[in-house]
Amino acid sequence: MSTADFDTWQTRANAVRPLHQAFIDGRFVDAEDCQTFATINPANGRKLADVAACQPADVDRAVQAARRAFESGVWSQQHPRERKRVLLRLAALIELHRDELALLETLDMGKPISDALAYDLPETAKCFAWYAEAIDKQYDEIAPTGPEALATITREPIGVVAAVVPWNYPLMMASWKIAPALAAGNSVLLKPAEQSPLSALRLAELAAEAGVPQGVFNVLPGLGPVTGQALGLHMDVDCLAFTGSTATGKRFMAYSSQSNLKRVWLECGGKSPHIVFDDCPDLDKAAQAAAVGIFSNQGEVCIAGSRLYVQNGIYDRFMDKVAQYAQGMRPGDPLDPATTMGAIVDETQMRRVLGYIESGLSEGAQLRTGGQRARTATGGYYVEPTIFDCPRQAMRIVNEEIFGPVLAAQRFSTEDEAVALANDSPYGLGAGLWTAQLGRAHRISRRLRAGLVWVNCYFDGDITVPFGGVKQSGFGRDKSLHALDKYSDFKTTWINLL
Ligand code: NAD
Repeated sequence: MSTADFDTWQTRANAVRPLHQAFIDGRFVDAEDCQTFATINPANGRKLADVAACQPADVDRAVQAARRAFESGVWSQQHPRERKRVLLRLAALIELHRDELALLETLDMGKPISDALAYDLPETAKCFAWYAEAIDKQYDEIAPTGPEALATITREPIGVVAAVVPWNYPLMMASWKIAPALAAGNSVLLKPAEQSPLSALRLAELAAEAGVPQGVFNVLPGLGPVTGQALGLHMDVDCLAFTGSTATGKRFMAYSSQSNLKRVWLECGGKSPHIVFDDCPDLDKAAQAAAVGIFSNQGEVCIAGSRLYVQNGIYDRFMDKVAQYAQGMRPGDPLDPATTMGAIVDETQMRRVLGYIESGLSEGAQLRTGGQRARTATGGYYVEPTIFDCPRQAMRIVNEEIFGPVLAAQRFSTEDEAVALANDSPYGLGAGLWTAQLGRAHRISRRLRAGLVWVNCYFDGDITVPFGGVKQSGFGRDKSLHALDKYSDFKTTWINLL
């Protein structure tokens, strides 16, 4: 863990000269007509860089490069042990440049530097290392046919894979897609979010240094409706892996149907329920988990436990504790290693969050703590950790994804009511429950419509287990060996033995 203090991080931040061109076919290049967009530091509202805004022609050049590399076999036909060697080297380079990459994440999207160092970067490196280690241990299959035939089922890379990712964990979200896609032998195009393009460009440089061949990994910064759309509509992209909002996920389904039926994998939004029964074995631990579950990363977490359901008998006592933890998480300068809550990613998102706080108040929710913009004099975009007691489910702050530090809490009395409230959502990403009864834990877990369920914990996870949702939270899973299936085709070869 870095021991650098606030002053040191500020000095390093002032010295940052970020890469700002697109990375296409092994080279950093300007976008067509030198078009750019500004990326802003949300901690102070100042511009960090003008970054290449890739146009459809740039996307086309990158897809052609990726296809050429794929067809050449330089990566796709490479021995799995060689792909492993290169990806392990990339993981090691990410470790080596952890401070620099963490700083780029913090400057670009406002998360606390201590979180970027302790979580984002180690998880990103681990993801590359894990898929590198997995890929030379995968066996193909022989089907149980009769003696007259031999049928093999072999995995093949799909071809050209595009990854379109959000800004909340820029490198980590990207790695969940790039690492298995590259390990499986595909050529990859990464489009980072326009709010957070800087770390992806440095990753491109490190990938080249690690030995990823020219054209196999390309990074295309740009605006969603231009660069993202061009990738979605491209006739020669075979697969598009997306993480972001449900609204944009739906667009990618449409792009696919309007173009070449590329397969689409969607990790979309969430409004995850966190249920606390009155037999909760440790109220303090649960209260802390409830606060961290919504306020960490400024609430900009797809699996944020943004709906809290607490059983009647313990409601007031429990909510007091959650509020206490919340008040301990005041927004601070993201470069200060003591900060636990940083800046909201941009002004638009901050205004959106503040708008939801307004709507909570006007719809009759009771403000328990927070509710205000913070640190306004910095020029940055900060919002206090905010908790509402909600009288009913039919409120916007209970039903809509806010993607900010706003918790909507409600009471319930019975198990059935808790499950009904929890499942009453178009989303189905995460869900948490706290109980001392093993039977109840299993019972509720089975009834919750969510891709991930936590019992007596929240947010816990590992690269070994699948991550993803049901309903309008999307389909397909990141992480675990299952993710490799998303980036592989299965070929059947039937050999007549007679
Ligand atoms: P977003 O949908 O606005 O953007 C995500 C990506 O899509 C960005 O790269 C963006 O440039 C691109 N994009 C935007 N509009 C586009 C368009 N019209 N055509 C093509 N591409 C377009 O989402 P966001 O604001 O960056 O991220 C927040 C959302 O991401 C939240 O809804 C959150 O829940 C979700 N998210 C989900 C997961 C998960 O694993 N399920 C993880 C992190 C974030």
